[in-house]
Amino acid sequence: MAEIAQGVQAPGRGTDPARLGLWIDGARREAASGKTIESTNPATGEVVCLVAQADETDVDDAVAAAKRAFPAWRELPPLERARMVASLGDLVERHAEELCLLDVLDNGSPAKEMIADARNGAWALRYFAGLALELRGHTVPTGHNRLDYTLRQPYGVVGRIVPFNHPLLFAARSIAAPLVAGNTVVLKPSEYTSMSAVRLGELASEVLPPGVLNVITGFGHDAGDALVRHPDVRRLAFTGSVPTGRRIQLSAASAGVKHVTLELGGKNPIVVFPDADIDAAIEGAVFGMNFTWQGQSCGSTSRLLVHSSLHDDFVARLAQRLEAMRSGMPEDAATDTGAIVNKAQYDKVLSYIDIAVSDGARVRAGGGRPDDPSLDRGLFIRPTLLDDVAPDSRVAQEEIFGPVLSVITFDTYADAVAIANSVEYGLTASVFTQDLKRAHSFARDVEAGFVWVNDSSRHFPGVPFGGFKESGVGTEESFEELESYTQLKNVNVRFDGEGQ
Ligand code: NAD
Repeated sequence: MAEIAQGVQAPGRGTDPARLGLWIDGARREAASGKTIESTNPATGEVVCLVAQADETDVDDAVAAAKRAFPAWRELPPLERARMVASLGDLVERHAEELCLLDVLDNGSPAKEMIADARNGAWALRYFAGLALELRGHTVPTGHNRLDYTLRQPYGVVGRIVPFNHPLLFAARSIAAPLVAGNTVVLKPSEYTSMSAVRLGELASEVLPPGVLNVITGFGHDAGDALVRHPDVRRLAFTGSVPTGRRIQLSAASAGVKHVTLELGGKNPIVVFPDADIDAAIEGAVFGMNFTWQGQSCGSTSRLLVHSSLHDDFVARLAQRLEAMRSGMPEDAATDTGAIVNKAQYDKVLSYIDIAVSDGARVRAGGGRPDDPSLDRGLFIRPTLLDDVAPDSRVAQEEIFGPVLSVITFDTYADAVAIANSVEYGLTASVFTQDLKRAHSFARDVEAGFVWVNDSSRHFPGVPFGGFKESGVGTEESFEELESYTQLKNVNVRFDGEGQ
């Protein structure tokens, strides 16, 4: 067997695929049932490894380990916890290439893009570690002979469930705030992209006490649901699709009263007004759509609202730009756009293109598989531009989570805002204009949790990210996320007895 990364071996021809275990209580182990899930490289169709298929028994063990580790972790001086979390950030950065390779094999996105995920994950761990001493309570005036103060206390065991599109980044970013706040964590990655999270668990065992971080791999309806329902997990955070988020809210509520935050999908508008810098807007539309990971991002600006006076030239130039993007093998440095994560997602994307065309849209770029026989074994779809899309059509209303950008034309500011707000989602929005009044009016009027003016899709450590409407509950990537992993306790002291 060839070693593809430390701790994970690639299948050689004629050999059995490598097996990847769970990471519980600082040690690797198989699922109690012995069952596994095949992890397939979407660019080649090859089985990369067998991932342990955890069920309720393994989840119980992981939560029990996290519960045992909690008192000592909580009692550590905050700077000591922070030092360990920051050390994990250093380890992630040191192993960036290896972690990137695991993600590339699992999810088909280009290596030259995914390498940033490990670095950004490392930064998230360091950012939250740096905030450790900012988790403060406050005093409240309640009377002359009284002292009132608040304490921020960790919940205990936190359940963190993450999706497939940025496996390592979400795994690393998701554990940072709860750990720094003094909680222990059970992390569940997507069943399609588990490798880097398991490796993260292994790296964490070098710097964190056993049980502080546990990694459970397995199916959502099984291991994921067991984690959601577990009575010892009162704080849950989920990143993924709206239907799963709603299911998790229901399931959590059926098991107990729990604090559940949700980072969900998007159908994000990018709006180009007549006075925009057109070159910047074209680049913003390409960058915002995240074609570099095949559009598979919650923040993808998948609805392009162009003023009618700009439409023809803008769409022609954008189509040319997309046609120039190179589909290719994810490991190849010349590749601009890679493979879709799995067959179900691939079929879904193609079916949306068909639906759009039958609803009257015109394909201006892409529209199907690349014309390159060397990619025949993989799940590749070209960057696709659909023109003349009706704002109320399915392709304009529903999240596709693939490389499909829909162009919608508008005439007035009021139209643009109405169309932008006409979907169930409310994650992000971008606006391109030189007019300050229009830019700030749009930022005020659009129903979205994050708005870029003359830019798109960029994240910054410390800047709050979260959705309105169906796109979620709560805010991440910022100080507010750290606080959300604590419970606010109030203490009121009366000291007006003798001797006062
Ligand atoms: P998904 O909802 O199918 O799965 C996400 C995770 O939930 C996986 O780990 C899965 O195993 C688990 N899961 C599934 N069913 C479950 C259940 N019943 N109980 C507990 N866990 C369960 O999402 P996906 O296909 O992996 O990811 C794509 C979606 O994620 C898109 O909708 C995208 O917009 C969203 N997303 C949102 C953000 C954000 O920050 N808002 C970021 C990335 C992705």
